[in-house]
Amino acid sequence: MTAVPAAPTHWVVRMNHRNRSASWLIVAAVLAVHFLEQGYGPWAWWLMVLQFLVYPHIVYLRARYAKDPLAAEIQNMLLDNFCFGLWAAALGFPLWIAYTLVICGCINMTAFRALKGGLQALAAVALGAALVVAVAGWRFTPGTSLSVSALSMLCLSVYLVLFARGAHTRTVVLSATRAKLRQREAALQSQLQAVQSLQAQLTEQAHRDPLTGLYNRRYLDTALQRELEGCAGEGATLALLLIDLDHFKQINDRHGHAAGDEVLRQVAVLLLQTMRPSDICCRYGGEEFLALLPGMGLQTAVDRAQALRQQVAERCWLADGQPVGVTLSVGVACAHNAAMAPAALIDLADRALYQAKSGGRNRVCVAGAAPVAETDGAATPVVPAAY
Ligand code: GH3
Ligand code: MG
Ligand code: MG
Repeated sequence: MTAVPAAPTHWVVRMNHRNRSASWLIVAAVLAVHFLEQGYGPWAWWLMVLQFLVYPHIVYLRARYAKDPLAAEIQNMLLDNFCFGLWAAALGFPLWIAYTLVICGCINMTAFRALKGGLQALAAVALGAALVVAVAGWRFTPGTSLSVSALSMLCLSVYLVLFARGAHTRTVVLSATRAKLRQREAALQSQLQAVQSLQAQLTEQAHRDPLTGLYNRRYLDTALQRELEGCAGEGATLALLLIDLDHFKQINDRHGHAAGDEVLRQVAVLLLQTMRPSDICCRYGGEEFLALLPGMGLQTAVDRAQALRQQVAERCWLADGQPVGVTLSVGVACAHNAAMAPAALIDLADRALYQAKSGGRNRVCVAGAAPVAETDGAATPVVPAAY
């Protein structure tokens, strides 16, 4: 039973087999004419049949079933050239025949191993020729008949055309493969963009409160840390407002949870309208909001909080289609250096908020200071806490 190759035949082995079988057939024809003209005996004919008609298939099978088909095929090519050297010397270096054999062998090796390959081919030819000269002596009969020269030219032409055809096929396959690769790369690129934009969406969603669209506490943790670190410079400040809606539970109780949600959404919109684009507005808890005001001093922050408190108190709010009074209390704190811990700054604002709540609500307070606004909105002087 014949062994079946594990993998498909290597393309170099296939191509060389095709080129060898076809062009060596013509070499055999050239030699046949030459032998007839020169009157060579049967031994020459047998050797010619073995070399040019049988040998191509033997070396093909050898390379096809080799462990490393490409390496085996390179050895085959070197063997070809060695044999060409034997033939050239044995025939007395007939110019056209020898040139055709040597140039075909050199071109083939150069195609696969660059100039190094061409030189290796020449060396193999020289070795073959030297062997014959050493054994049988030097013989030099360069002339061939017109028909042998013409057939040699035909043989060379057929080989070159076959070789060029192989190169063309490979170029076509290569450019088709490149086009396919480019398509795949473009598809991968667009998939990557989709994944990246999805990733950005997910990150954004992970940082947002679904009800109000404001940043959530998760985002606040990183933002507060970052903004406090930005307070390292001379005179840099970070103000923080902790905002809590007053008696919000009553709104829920009287008008329903959905109406309460609507109020929370509207307060969030108002908060964003009141703040600068660089400010960071978060939903801190149920009906609590927190605003980070980078670079803002305490007094300006208090003024901002007052303006917000006033707008909320004066606005006509509708909950479930019913007018509803909404007020809020604000605790203000301000960091003046990067050494302040995020929790400490929030704690300061929380204490100020507690002060505002216990002072009667609808007011703005700074921790450790007197309230800056009474229920009627009249401002009282701010005495900042010592920090
Ligand atoms: P205070 O002035 O002391 O802050 O009173 P308050 O009623 O606002 O505070 P309390 O902590 O007693 O109640 C907060 C309420 O906020 C209770 C809860 O049902 C409501 N709440 C929290 N989250 C949501 C929400 O997402 N939607 C709605 N509609 N209500 C919420
Ligand atoms: Mg609360
Ligand atoms: Mg509340």
